Amino acid sequence: MKRIDVRAGKPYQVKIGRGLLRSCGAEMQGINLYGKIMIVTDDNVAPLYLQTVSESLKNCGFSVYSHTLPHGENSKNFDELVKLLNFTAHCGLTRSDTLVALGGGVVGDLCGFAAAIYMRGVHFVQLPTTLLAAVDSSVGGKTAVDLTAGKNLAGAFYQPDLVLCDPEPFATLPGEEYANGMAEVIKYGFIRDKELLELLQQSFEEEEVVARCVQSKADIVANDEFDRGERMLLNFGHTVGHAIEAKSGYAIPHGQAVAIGMVKITQACVKNGLCPQETLDIMLKLTERYGLPTESPYPMSELFDYMVNDKKSSGDAITFVLPRETGNCELKKLTRTEWTALLS
Ligand code: ADP
Ligand code: ZN
Repeated sequence: MKRIDVRAGKPYQVKIGRGLLRSCGAEMQGINLYGKIMIVTDDNVAPLYLQTVSESLKNCGFSVYSHTLPHGENSKNFDELVKLLNFTAHCGLTRSDTLVALGGGVVGDLCGFAAAIYMRGVHFVQLPTTLLAAVDSSVGGKTAVDLTAGKNLAGAFYQPDLVLCDPEPFATLPGEEYANGMAEVIKYGFIRDKELLELLQQSFEEEEVVARCVQSKADIVANDEFDRGERMLLNFGHTVGHAIEAKSGYAIPHGQAVAIGMVKITQACVKNGLCPQETLDIMLKLTERYGLPTESPYPMSELFDYMVNDKKSSGDAITFVLPRETGNCELKKLTRTEWTALLS
Protein backbone atom coordinates (compact mmCIF):
# COMPACT_ATOMS: atom_id res chain seq x y z
CA MET A 1 0.00 0.00 0.00
CA LYS A 2 1.16 3.54 -0.77
CA ARG A 3 0.36 6.61 1.33
CA ILE A 4 0.47 10.20 0.17
CA ASP A 5 -0.01 13.22 2.40
CA VAL A 6 -1.93 16.11 0.91
CA ARG A 7 -0.86 19.32 2.64
CA ALA A 8 -3.95 21.39 1.95
CA GLY A 9 -5.49 23.79 4.53
CA LYS A 10 -6.98 20.61 5.98
CA PRO A 11 -4.27 17.92 5.65
CA TYR A 12 -5.35 14.37 4.76
CA GLN A 13 -4.03 11.11 3.39
CA VAL A 14 -4.59 9.33 0.11
CA LYS A 15 -3.99 5.59 0.36
CA ILE A 16 -3.53 3.48 -2.74
CA GLY A 17 -3.69 -0.29 -2.62
CA ARG A 18 -5.55 -3.41 -3.68
CA GLY A 19 -8.31 -4.46 -1.29
CA LEU A 20 -8.94 -1.02 0.23
CA LEU A 21 -12.67 -1.20 -0.53
CA ARG A 22 -12.84 -4.33 1.63
CA SER A 23 -10.98 -2.65 4.49
CA CYS A 24 -12.52 0.82 4.25
CA GLY A 25 -14.30 0.44 7.62
CA ALA A 26 -11.05 -0.07 9.49
CA GLU A 27 -9.36 2.74 7.53
CA MET A 28 -12.14 5.15 8.50
CA GLN A 29 -12.02 4.09 12.13
CA GLY A 30 -8.28 4.72 11.92
CA ILE A 31 -8.92 8.44 11.35
CA ASN A 32 -11.43 8.54 14.23
CA LEU A 33 -14.64 8.59 12.26
CA TYR A 34 -17.66 7.01 13.95
CA GLY A 35 -21.46 7.09 13.86
CA LYS A 36 -23.57 7.26 10.72
CA ILE A 37 -22.37 6.89 7.15
CA MET A 38 -24.24 7.85 4.00
CA ILE A 39 -22.72 6.05 1.00
CA VAL A 40 -23.43 7.87 -2.25
CA THR A 41 -23.03 5.82 -5.41
CA ASP A 42 -24.56 5.27 -8.87
CA ASP A 43 -26.62 2.49 -10.40
CA ASN A 44 -23.65 0.95 -12.25
CA VAL A 45 -21.36 0.88 -9.24
CA ALA A 46 -23.96 -0.13 -6.62
CA PRO A 47 -24.48 -3.73 -7.83
CA LEU A 48 -20.70 -4.23 -8.10
CA TYR A 49 -19.24 -2.70 -4.94
CA LEU A 50 -21.88 -1.31 -2.57
CA GLN A 51 -22.24 -4.51 -0.58
CA THR A 52 -18.48 -4.90 -0.03
CA VAL A 53 -18.21 -1.34 1.26
CA SER A 54 -21.36 -1.53 3.42
CA GLU A 55 -20.25 -4.76 5.04
CA SER A 56 -16.80 -3.44 5.83
CA LEU A 57 -18.36 -0.37 7.47
CA LYS A 58 -21.01 -2.32 9.40
CA ASN A 59 -18.38 -4.74 10.69
CA CYS A 60 -16.58 -1.74 12.16
CA GLY A 61 -19.67 -0.54 13.99
CA PHE A 62 -20.88 2.21 11.65
CA SER A 63 -24.63 2.69 10.95
CA VAL A 64 -24.80 2.58 7.17
CA TYR A 65 -27.26 4.21 4.75
CA SER A 66 -26.95 4.48 0.99
CA HIS A 67 -28.24 6.65 -1.81
CA THR A 68 -27.94 5.61 -5.47
CA LEU A 69 -27.96 8.12 -8.33
CA PRO A 70 -28.65 7.29 -11.96
CA HIS A 71 -25.18 7.02 -13.58
CA GLY A 72 -23.79 9.71 -15.84
CA GLU A 73 -23.17 13.44 -15.99
CA ASN A 74 -26.93 14.19 -16.18
CA SER A 75 -27.19 13.37 -12.47
CA LYS A 76 -24.71 16.09 -11.50
CA ASN A 77 -27.36 18.72 -10.87
CA PHE A 78 -29.17 20.58 -8.10
CA ASP A 79 -32.23 18.30 -8.22
CA GLU A 80 -30.12 15.25 -7.39
CA LEU A 81 -28.15 17.25 -4.82
CA VAL A 82 -31.33 18.30 -3.02
CA LYS A 83 -32.69 14.73 -3.08
CA LEU A 84 -29.47 13.52 -1.48
CA LEU A 85 -29.50 16.29 1.15
CA ASN A 86 -33.13 15.57 2.07
CA PHE A 87 -32.47 11.84 2.34
CA THR A 88 -29.38 12.51 4.47
CA ALA A 89 -31.47 14.64 6.83
CA HIS A 90 -34.24 12.03 6.83
CA CYS A 91 -31.70 9.42 7.96
CA GLY A 92 -30.71 11.73 10.82
CA LEU A 93 -27.05 12.37 9.97
CA THR A 94 -25.51 15.06 12.16
CA ARG A 95 -22.36 17.21 12.01
CA SER A 96 -20.16 14.41 13.32
CA ASP A 97 -21.30 11.93 10.63
CA THR A 98 -19.79 11.11 7.23
CA LEU A 99 -20.67 11.14 3.54
CA VAL A 100 -18.79 8.57 1.46
CA ALA A 101 -18.50 8.86 -2.34
CA LEU A 102 -18.29 5.43 -3.96
CA GLY A 103 -17.96 5.89 -7.72
CA GLY A 104 -16.43 8.01 -10.44
CA GLY A 105 -16.10 11.75 -10.79
CA VAL A 106 -19.81 12.41 -11.01
CA VAL A 107 -20.53 10.77 -7.66
CA GLY A 108 -17.42 12.31 -6.07
CA ASP A 109 -18.18 15.86 -7.21
CA LEU A 110 -21.84 15.78 -6.16
CA CYS A 111 -21.26 13.95 -2.87
CA GLY A 112 -18.39 16.30 -2.02
CA PHE A 113 -20.59 19.33 -2.59
CA ALA A 114 -23.31 17.78 -0.40
CA ALA A 115 -20.69 17.14 2.33
CA ALA A 116 -19.55 20.78 2.06
CA ILE A 117 -23.02 22.22 2.61
CA TYR A 118 -24.97 19.67 4.68
CA MET A 119 -25.14 21.26 8.15
CA ARG A 120 -22.36 23.60 6.90
CA GLY A 121 -19.95 20.72 6.45
CA VAL A 122 -19.69 17.08 7.52
CA HIS A 123 -16.93 14.49 7.17
CA PHE A 124 -16.25 13.31 3.65
CA VAL A 125 -14.42 10.23 2.35
CA GLN A 126 -13.73 9.41 -1.30
CA LEU A 127 -13.65 5.85 -2.63
CA PRO A 128 -12.97 6.43 -6.35
CA THR A 129 -13.89 3.49 -8.61
CA THR A 130 -12.71 4.96 -11.93
CA LEU A 131 -9.11 5.55 -12.95
CA LEU A 132 -10.03 9.14 -13.78
CA ALA A 133 -11.46 9.83 -10.33
CA ALA A 134 -8.52 8.09 -8.61
CA VAL A 135 -5.84 10.14 -10.36
CA ASP A 136 -7.68 13.39 -10.72
CA SER A 137 -11.05 14.40 -9.32
CA SER A 138 -10.98 12.64 -5.92
CA VAL A 139 -7.91 14.58 -4.73
CA GLY A 140 -7.73 18.33 -4.37
CA GLY A 141 -11.08 19.32 -2.94
CA LYS A 142 -12.98 20.57 -5.97
CA THR A 143 -16.66 19.73 -5.64
CA ALA A 144 -19.46 20.81 -7.96
CA VAL A 145 -22.69 20.30 -9.82
CA ASP A 146 -23.52 21.48 -13.34
CA LEU A 147 -25.82 24.37 -14.24
CA THR A 148 -27.79 24.67 -17.47
CA ALA A 149 -25.22 27.27 -18.48
CA GLY A 150 -22.28 24.88 -18.16
CA LYS A 151 -20.43 22.14 -16.35
CA ASN A 152 -19.16 22.53 -12.76
CA LEU A 153 -20.47 26.08 -12.48
CA ALA A 154 -21.69 25.73 -8.87
CA GLY A 155 -19.56 24.19 -6.17
CA ALA A 156 -17.12 24.64 -3.34
CA PHE A 157 -13.54 23.88 -2.40
CA TYR A 158 -13.97 21.17 0.24
CA GLN A 159 -11.17 18.75 1.04
CA PRO A 160 -12.00 15.16 1.99
CA ASP A 161 -10.87 13.58 5.29
CA LEU A 162 -9.50 10.53 3.48
CA VAL A 163 -9.20 9.13 -0.05
CA LEU A 164 -8.88 5.37 -0.57
CA CYS A 165 -7.87 4.37 -4.11
CA ASP A 166 -8.38 0.66 -4.72
CA PRO A 167 -7.34 -0.30 -8.27
CA GLU A 168 -9.39 -3.56 -8.17
CA PRO A 169 -12.62 -1.90 -9.40
CA PHE A 170 -10.82 -0.64 -12.53
CA ALA A 171 -11.13 -4.21 -13.82
CA THR A 172 -14.85 -3.72 -14.46
CA LEU A 173 -14.52 -0.32 -16.14
CA PRO A 174 -15.59 -0.20 -19.78
CA GLY A 175 -12.51 0.20 -22.03
CA GLU A 176 -13.47 3.73 -22.99
CA GLU A 177 -13.71 4.83 -19.35
CA TYR A 178 -10.28 3.37 -18.63
CA ALA A 179 -8.87 5.24 -21.62
CA ASN A 180 -10.41 8.48 -20.31
CA GLY A 181 -8.46 8.04 -17.10
CA MET A 182 -5.28 7.30 -19.04
CA ALA A 183 -5.56 10.70 -20.74
CA GLU A 184 -5.19 12.36 -17.32
CA VAL A 185 -2.38 9.97 -16.39
CA ILE A 186 -0.51 10.90 -19.58
CA LYS A 187 -1.13 14.57 -18.75
CA TYR A 188 0.75 14.26 -15.42
CA GLY A 189 3.69 12.80 -17.30
CA PHE A 190 3.93 15.72 -19.68
CA ILE A 191 3.45 18.44 -17.08
CA ARG A 192 6.00 17.17 -14.56
CA ASP A 193 6.92 13.47 -14.56
CA LYS A 194 9.11 12.19 -17.37
CA GLU A 195 9.71 8.89 -15.54
CA LEU A 196 5.97 8.21 -15.52
CA LEU A 197 6.00 8.50 -19.31
CA GLU A 198 8.73 5.87 -19.41
CA LEU A 199 6.65 3.54 -17.20
CA LEU A 200 3.66 4.01 -19.48
CA GLN A 201 5.68 2.77 -22.44
CA GLN A 202 6.13 -0.59 -20.64
CA SER A 203 3.71 -2.77 -18.69
CA PHE A 204 3.07 -1.10 -15.36
CA GLU A 205 1.61 -1.63 -11.89
CA GLU A 206 -1.61 0.38 -11.57
CA GLU A 207 -0.82 1.08 -7.93
CA GLU A 208 2.47 2.73 -8.83
CA VAL A 209 1.04 4.77 -11.68
CA VAL A 210 -1.91 6.01 -9.60
CA ALA A 211 0.45 6.88 -6.74
CA ARG A 212 2.73 8.94 -9.01
CA CYS A 213 -0.24 10.90 -10.36
CA VAL A 214 -1.70 11.48 -6.89
CA GLN A 215 1.73 12.63 -5.66
CA SER A 216 1.88 15.17 -8.49
CA LYS A 217 -1.61 16.39 -7.75
CA ALA A 218 -0.86 16.58 -4.01
CA ASP A 219 2.30 18.65 -4.65
CA ILE A 220 0.47 21.02 -6.96
CA VAL A 221 -2.57 21.40 -4.67
CA ALA A 222 -0.33 22.04 -1.63
CA ASN A 223 1.19 25.01 -3.48
CA ASP A 224 -2.08 26.37 -4.85
CA GLU A 225 -5.17 25.01 -3.11
CA PHE A 226 -7.53 27.60 -4.60
CA ASP A 227 -6.44 27.44 -8.24
CA ARG A 228 -4.81 30.83 -8.70
CA GLY A 229 -1.48 29.81 -10.19
CA GLU A 230 0.47 26.57 -10.43
CA ARG A 231 -2.70 24.46 -10.24
CA MET A 232 -3.52 25.70 -13.74
CA LEU A 233 -0.81 23.29 -14.98
CA LEU A 234 -3.41 20.55 -14.46
CA ASN A 235 -5.28 22.24 -17.27
CA PHE A 236 -2.79 20.98 -19.89
CA GLY A 237 -4.79 19.98 -22.98
CA HIS A 238 -7.98 21.18 -21.31
CA THR A 239 -8.55 24.55 -22.99
CA VAL A 240 -8.85 22.94 -26.41
CA GLY A 241 -10.33 19.81 -24.77
CA HIS A 242 -13.16 21.66 -23.04
CA ALA A 243 -13.95 23.45 -26.32
CA ILE A 244 -14.20 20.09 -28.14
CA GLU A 245 -16.44 18.66 -25.41
CA ALA A 246 -18.72 21.70 -25.49
CA LYS A 247 -18.88 21.87 -29.29
CA SER A 248 -19.85 18.16 -29.40
CA GLY A 249 -22.67 18.80 -26.92
CA TYR A 250 -20.67 16.59 -24.50
CA ALA A 251 -20.92 13.58 -26.83
CA ILE A 252 -17.11 13.38 -26.84
CA PRO A 253 -15.96 12.27 -23.37
CA HIS A 254 -13.60 14.38 -21.28
CA GLY A 255 -10.55 12.10 -21.54
CA GLN A 256 -10.76 11.80 -25.31
CA ALA A 257 -11.19 15.56 -25.69
CA VAL A 258 -8.21 16.22 -23.40
CA ALA A 259 -6.07 13.78 -25.42
CA ILE A 260 -6.89 15.69 -28.62
CA GLY A 261 -6.26 18.97 -26.77
CA MET A 262 -2.81 17.86 -25.58
CA VAL A 263 -1.86 16.78 -29.09
CA LYS A 264 -3.12 20.01 -30.69
CA ILE A 265 -1.31 22.35 -28.31
CA THR A 266 1.88 20.28 -28.58
CA GLN A 267 1.70 20.30 -32.38
CA ALA A 268 1.27 24.09 -32.25
CA CYS A 269 4.28 24.48 -29.95
CA VAL A 270 6.45 22.23 -32.13
CA LYS A 271 5.44 24.21 -35.22
CA ASN A 272 6.37 27.48 -33.51
CA GLY A 273 9.73 26.19 -32.29
CA LEU A 274 8.68 26.18 -28.62
CA CYS A 275 8.94 22.44 -28.07
CA PRO A 276 10.99 19.61 -29.64
CA GLN A 277 9.41 17.16 -32.09
CA GLU A 278 10.46 14.30 -29.79
CA THR A 279 7.86 15.39 -27.19
CA LEU A 280 5.10 15.16 -29.77
CA ASP A 281 6.36 11.76 -30.93
CA ILE A 282 6.16 10.35 -27.38
CA MET A 283 2.69 11.81 -26.95
CA LEU A 284 1.43 10.25 -30.19
CA LYS A 285 2.92 6.90 -29.22
CA LEU A 286 1.19 6.93 -25.83
CA THR A 287 -2.20 8.15 -27.06
CA GLU A 288 -2.18 5.39 -29.67
CA ARG A 289 -1.11 2.76 -27.16
CA TYR A 290 -3.97 3.65 -24.81
CA GLY A 291 -6.65 3.95 -27.48
CA LEU A 292 -7.06 7.73 -27.36
CA PRO A 293 -7.91 9.92 -30.36
CA THR A 294 -5.55 12.62 -31.60
CA GLU A 295 -7.50 14.33 -34.38
CA SER A 296 -10.09 17.01 -33.69
CA PRO A 297 -13.40 16.41 -35.49
CA TYR A 298 -13.69 20.20 -35.79
CA PRO A 299 -11.30 22.73 -37.34
CA MET A 300 -9.52 24.81 -34.68
CA SER A 301 -11.17 28.02 -35.90
CA GLU A 302 -14.59 26.60 -34.91
CA LEU A 303 -13.37 26.00 -31.37
CA PHE A 304 -12.06 29.49 -30.58
CA ASP A 305 -15.35 30.92 -29.31
CA TYR A 306 -15.82 27.95 -26.97
CA MET A 307 -12.37 28.60 -25.48
CA VAL A 308 -13.20 32.10 -24.30
CA ASN A 309 -16.23 30.78 -22.45
CA ASP A 310 -14.07 28.42 -20.44
CA LYS A 311 -13.80 29.12 -16.67
CA LYS A 312 -10.01 29.48 -17.09
CA SER A 313 -10.32 32.52 -19.35
CA SER A 314 -10.48 36.16 -18.25
CA GLY A 315 -11.81 38.43 -20.96
CA ASP A 316 -10.31 37.23 -24.21
CA ALA A 317 -6.94 36.38 -22.64
CA ILE A 318 -6.36 32.75 -21.73
CA THR A 319 -3.65 31.18 -19.59
CA PHE A 320 -2.38 28.30 -21.72
CA VAL A 321 -0.28 25.39 -20.55
CA LEU A 322 2.48 25.13 -23.15
CA PRO A 323 4.74 22.07 -23.39
CA ARG A 324 8.42 23.13 -23.50
CA GLU A 325 10.04 19.70 -23.35
CA THR A 326 8.99 16.22 -22.23
CA GLY A 327 7.90 16.46 -18.58
CA ASN A 328 7.97 20.25 -18.45
CA CYS A 329 5.19 22.71 -19.21
CA GLU A 330 4.92 26.46 -18.78
CA LEU A 331 1.93 28.68 -17.98
CA LYS A 332 1.54 31.56 -20.40
CA LYS A 333 -1.19 34.17 -20.59
CA LEU A 334 -1.92 34.87 -24.24
CA THR A 335 -4.17 37.47 -25.83
CA ARG A 336 -6.76 36.33 -28.33
CA THR A 337 -4.53 37.50 -31.20
CA GLU A 338 -1.63 35.50 -29.78
CA TRP A 339 -3.52 32.26 -29.13
CA THR A 340 -5.39 32.27 -32.42
CA ALA A 341 -2.04 32.71 -34.19
CA LEU A 342 -0.48 29.89 -32.17
CA LEU A 343 -3.30 27.42 -32.82
CA SER A 344 -4.13 28.32 -36.43
P1 ADP B 1 -15.56 9.86 -14.37
O1 ADP B 1 -15.04 9.34 -15.66
O2 ADP B 1 -15.46 11.35 -14.20
O3 ADP B 1 -15.03 9.15 -13.21
P2 ADP B 1 -18.36 8.89 -14.01
O4 ADP B 1 -18.53 9.11 -12.57
O5 ADP B 1 -19.50 9.30 -14.88
O6 ADP B 1 -17.12 9.67 -14.58
O7 ADP B 1 -18.02 7.36 -14.28
C1 ADP B 1 -17.97 6.88 -15.60
C2 ADP B 1 -18.91 5.69 -15.80
O8 ADP B 1 -18.31 4.51 -15.28
C3 ADP B 1 -20.28 5.80 -15.13
O9 ADP B 1 -21.24 5.27 -16.00
C4 ADP B 1 -20.14 4.94 -13.89
O10 ADP B 1 -21.36 4.41 -13.48
C5 ADP B 1 -19.21 3.85 -14.38
N1 ADP B 1 -18.35 3.23 -13.36
C6 ADP B 1 -17.68 3.86 -12.37
N2 ADP B 1 -16.88 3.00 -11.73
C7 ADP B 1 -17.02 1.81 -12.33
C8 ADP B 1 -16.43 0.53 -12.14
N3 ADP B 1 -15.48 0.35 -11.24
N4 ADP B 1 -16.83 -0.48 -12.95
C9 ADP B 1 -17.76 -0.27 -13.91
N5 ADP B 1 -18.33 0.91 -14.15
C10 ADP B 1 -17.98 1.95 -13.38
ZN1 ZN C 1 -9.50 16.65 -16.78
